Amino acid sequence: MLQEKYFPDISIPIEFHVRPIRQGKGPHFNKFDFETRCKIIDDVYDIVNNCGFPNLIPFATVMDISAVKNSDQVCRDCFEDVCQNFNLYLYDQYKQGFPNKGLLVIDRGRERQYRQHFGELKKSEAVKEYLGNIVDIPYFAACKETRLLQVADFISNAVFRYYEWDVTDNFDKISSLFFQGSYLYPVKRLNHITRDESCQCCACN
Ligand SMILES: [Zn+2]
Repeated sequence: MLQEKYFPDISIPIEFHVRPIRQGKGPHFNKFDFETRCKIIDDVYDIVNNCGFPNLIPFATVMDISAVKNSDQVCRDCFEDVCQNFNLYLYDQYKQGFPNKGLLVIDRGRERQYRQHFGELKKSEAVKEYLGNIVDIPYFAACKETRLLQVADFISNAVFRYYEWDVTDNFDKISSLFFQGSYLYPVKRLNHITRDESCQCCACN
């Protein structure tokens, strides 16, 4: 276990988030030098990648500035897109004989914002159809209490660095996770919303 490797004396779960680790912030990670902190981050991405399909199946949607109207619209449209792709994935699995349903678990720190977005999605007749395989309500959890939300933070940060700064070190370690699995339908687990039709990113190609 990664925590045991770097914090052998601490038995309660420590929260792993990529930015505080990289910047050496907080009471746990500020005692390590930059090289060691980068190694911790590398180790997390190795663990994520080693999970492989179908144990860990990431979804991410990125919006290019060419499609942005305002910050609220970016968040809502990307959330809607992830929900649609997650639902399409579940539908595809159903058609392949794996009738599983999905559940949304969201960072409690963003609860108000996502409750509003989800409420708007549920009101839309067109979008309702996209949510057919996502059951119940979204659940909000504290990041520090669930490793899965911490994994989501690492994945989204790798995607962010790839698209925003063209830095691929972390993304290269996990990018294959987005493309593993075979589908009957065109499931886009990594989606790039852009008006640039000549985009050469790995999601558009
Ligand atoms: Zn693209």
